[in-house]
Amino acid sequence: MLEGLKIEVYKANQELAKNGLVTLRWGNISARDERTGYIVIKPRRIAFTQIKPDDLIVCDMEGKILEGSHTPSSDLFTHLEIYKAFPQVGSVAHTHSKWATVFAQAGESIPNLGTTHADYFKYDIPVTRTMRPEEIAKDYEKNTGRIIADAFTLKDPMTTPAILVKNHGPFVWGRDIADAVDNAVALEYVAEMAFYTLRLNTDADMNKYLIEKHVQRKQGGKNEQ
Ligand SMILES: [Zn+2]
Repeated sequence: MLEGLKIEVYKANQELAKNGLVTLRWGNISARDERTGYIVIKPRRIAFTQIKPDDLIVCDMEGKILEGSHTPSSDLFTHLEIYKAFPQVGSVAHTHSKWATVFAQAGESIPNLGTTHADYFKYDIPVTRTMRPEEIAKDYEKNTGRIIADAFTLKDPMTTPAILVKNHGPFVWGRDIADAVDNAVALEYVAEMAFYTLRLNTDADMNKYLIEKHVQRKQGGKNEQ
């Protein structure tokens, strides 16, 4: 079932590892099949570089497993909430990439300080609010997805396809798998640059017209500088 999509998700796992975004088993990536609406997701407890296409899990939007002999990633229900809230999303990646996670742990958004950021993300990368004890105690993964969706009530999730879950790490998405992987790579790059930029100049910022210019260029289909 969905063999082509499994190959793509398998390759995306390798890409995340190759780009240094996932260490040990920290993270997961999934994709939604446009025709059926089914989700293909990484299994739990298997290292990214060890996964084979047949190890991947196929489930429906309620998390019911349709194919696969492993347990799905523990973050499955966070992915599902993101797909439910953002219908244009075709793939979700979660990593503990170091620099983005530094901002998540500090509870600080990643400010948009340059065209590198603006080419991929219109807004500052937001941080989710602190989770309430009852949200942690029951349906933790689902509630994580809900607070991610809440953070985009007033923003288009496709113009800023990433968020930092406070004290945890980034969730990133895209129209398809390649887009989600690209955005995960870009997020880590801009997080590291923002950290050093703020070390050099704590008042650094960016002209909103320059941001808009780069966002519009991207909507024209190009990411070139
Ligand atoms: Zn995590």
